[in-house]
Amino acid sequence: MSTVTLNKRVQDFVITRRQLFINGQLVDAKSGKTFDTVNPATGETLATIAEGDAADIDLAVRAARRAFDDGPWGRMTPSERGRIIWRIGDLISEHLEEFAELETLDNGKPLAVARAADVPLAAELFRYMAGWATKIEGNTIPLSVPYAPGAEFHAYTLREPVGVVGQIIPWNFPLLMAAWKLGPALATGNTVVLKPAEQTPLSALYLAEIMAEAGLPDGVVNVVNGYGETAGAALAAHPGVDKIAFTGSTEVGRLIATAATGNLKKVSLELGGKSPNIVFADADPQAAIAGAANAIFFNHGQCCVAGSRLYVEADRFDEVVAGVADIAKSIKLGDGFDPDTQMGPLVSDEQLEKVGGFLDSGRQEGATVVTGGARQGDKGFFFQPTVISKTRPDMRVVREEIFGPVVVASPFESLDEIAATANDSPYGLGAGIWTRDISKAHALAKRIRAGTVWINCYNVFDAALPFGGYKQSGWGREMGHEALEAYTELKAVCTQL
Ligand code: ADP
Repeated sequence: MSTVTLNKRVQDFVITRRQLFINGQLVDAKSGKTFDTVNPATGETLATIAEGDAADIDLAVRAARRAFDDGPWGRMTPSERGRIIWRIGDLISEHLEEFAELETLDNGKPLAVARAADVPLAAELFRYMAGWATKIEGNTIPLSVPYAPGAEFHAYTLREPVGVVGQIIPWNFPLLMAAWKLGPALATGNTVVLKPAEQTPLSALYLAEIMAEAGLPDGVVNVVNGYGETAGAALAAHPGVDKIAFTGSTEVGRLIATAATGNLKKVSLELGGKSPNIVFADADPQAAIAGAANAIFFNHGQCCVAGSRLYVEADRFDEVVAGVADIAKSIKLGDGFDPDTQMGPLVSDEQLEKVGGFLDSGRQEGATVVTGGARQGDKGFFFQPTVISKTRPDMRVVREEIFGPVVVASPFESLDEIAATANDSPYGLGAGIWTRDISKAHALAKRIRAGTVWINCYNVFDAALPFGGYKQSGWGREMGHEALEAYTELKAVCTQL
């Protein structure tokens, strides 16, 4: 299978049965149950993982509560907490190779991508958030209380941790999504129960060991693997959890928000998308074509922000679509460990079926498949990079998130038309604009109802740049200093002098 010899620590990691990480200890699930994680490039079992459920979530929440109320974490200075978080970032960099291999094994992405993107971005996120640990500040507020003439007050605000945070993450960037969630939660002094996706449980467990090595006290981060309907649902509903943060499908986001109403826990959600990528006739054609291909094919289209609706100004439509289709045809699919591989498999059998189902629906509704459109090979979960055209706005392939390497392309005639078309979606996560006219670019950026707009680029992420969705793409923002707000409560303190 592999042209790379796995790192020894990774080999050991995947052959040992992996346990849950609760209160600084590796433990079996209370039920004794396990599940297997599968290598998507081969369909073969990769490792056996303890399967947590409501009982284990309860133990983990209690451990997180003790760590929050009574542990050393709350007594540390912000500087001490910041240094631990920084060290987590440094240790991720030191163990880059192991993390990259685990991501490729578990998720299928090319090793070069995990090395260049997933792991360094995760390390940077922790370093960026480490700096904030010493800068979580309130304000002093001058008061003018009208019914207390002559009285003097000293009023200020304190920004305090929310408490015990539940975090549920998806499988598309397993380590990076853990980092996006853990970084701000730790910088603001919370404790955490993290539930990774059942498809990709490995790197979060490895991260738990790294975090302990960095000096994170027991119980501050607990990792409970298990299925969404059991472990995930129990975490979202748990009365001992003060806030739930979720990244995943809009459908499950709705379930999480509903489950959170029991104790009215705070909720932040990073959900689905159907992001428009808009190419004007005056764009640099090479950059726009390469950018449009990257927007949809990066991470095999398994990105919530994938540029899955390509709109090209009518004069250049044929040229741009042909260019993207040429790139799609040239992409080499294969095992993520093969250095020639440019695109790995989809994450699971289920995902392969789902993407195939969308293609069937598109064909039935009369769309044209320009290139791709089918599974590749019969081993592993590979799907060809696909371009679809001649769509109508009401087709399922245009309206719904496919979460695979499938782009739908349509022409447009005017800025007003494209502004309306871009916004004609229940989602509002991202958008791309390709043009040499900066006025047009910024005028359109303002009109698009989405959390991120990229101009002459796509898929640019940075720990300092806030990320999140308008409309049904989510609540709240991750990364940037805005992420800290989601993990803090604000207390007003008022003293009469
Ligand atoms: P996808 O459909 O892409 O697999 P999901 O939204 O189903 O994405 O999954 C994202 C995360 O949500 C995973 O960790 C999964 O286990 C979890 N999850 C799925 N269903 C539920 C649920 N009912 N309650 C809580 N978490 C869930």
